[in-house]
Amino acid sequence: MEWKRKPGTWQMTEHTKKGVCYVSFPLLDAERGFVHGFSTRIGGVSEGDLSSMNLSFTRGDDPERVRENYRRIAAAVGFETDRLVFTHQTHTNHVRVVTEADAGKGFVRERDYTDVDGLVTDVPQLVLTTFYADCVPLFFIDPIHKAIGLSHSGWRGTVSDIAAATVRTMQGEYGSRPEDLLVGIGPSICQDCYEVSEDVVEKFRASYEEKLWMWLYREKGNGKYELNLWEACRQNLLRAGVLPDRIEVTDLCTCCNPQIFFSHRASGGKRGNLAGFLMIRE
Ligand SMILES: [Zn+2]
Repeated sequence: MEWKRKPGTWQMTEHTKKGVCYVSFPLLDAERGFVHGFSTRIGGVSEGDLSSMNLSFTRGDDPERVRENYRRIAAAVGFETDRLVFTHQTHTNHVRVVTEADAGKGFVRERDYTDVDGLVTDVPQLVLTTFYADCVPLFFIDPIHKAIGLSHSGWRGTVSDIAAATVRTMQGEYGSRPEDLLVGIGPSICQDCYEVSEDVVEKFRASYEEKLWMWLYREKGNGKYELNLWEACRQNLLRAGVLPDRIEVTDLCTCCNPQIFFSHRASGGKRGNLAGFLMIRE
């Protein structure tokens, strides 16, 4: 299968283990105390529009197939499924502080929370888990305080700045300093694929300084624009105090690679979910 990659500073690493394919950030892989991965469609047992590594229980899939997919991706990335902790994503900027009491919530136990788009923890071997099909995953590692964060930033989460909310929560809970953080902006929709209307662009104009607008969107005519969520997220991180050389921006667009990643845009909504995973090793 041919991977279409965007030009840039970084290239995400492909891993294939027992037929299961996932990708990782070289910047974050350099920190040995942490485990992370972002799934692809490749290596699961789901069928049709959900083929084959669908990681959602809420898109009409047979739950037993989804559980088998989790067993496979867990074996590939290297974590235990009873340690998974899921978000409950509704495009908010709400970040949950995850503790040992949350182990398994969303997978082996019911979640007792709603409207959570970001997770942070300092508990080793809890697997922060978030879901995607074009929206932007943000992976945070604090190697000094051994803390992590993982957030879902679609356009609404980007305008409401879940990136800064995650940084602030890590500062408050773990004493993390923004300048120590390593952050990965993960596989999601690229600017060339992401057409939006005027009302969305107006929200970005209201949220960013005018000098940044030329980097955030291009006008296509007829009230249509192409929005750059990767750059908007990068600007959010810089504004929160993260250093530019400690941010890795993905080179993989979900919509440019619809055979490899689930893409809401490319599939017209007929799709499964990808997932991001992040864990403190020990
Ligand atoms: Zn694209």
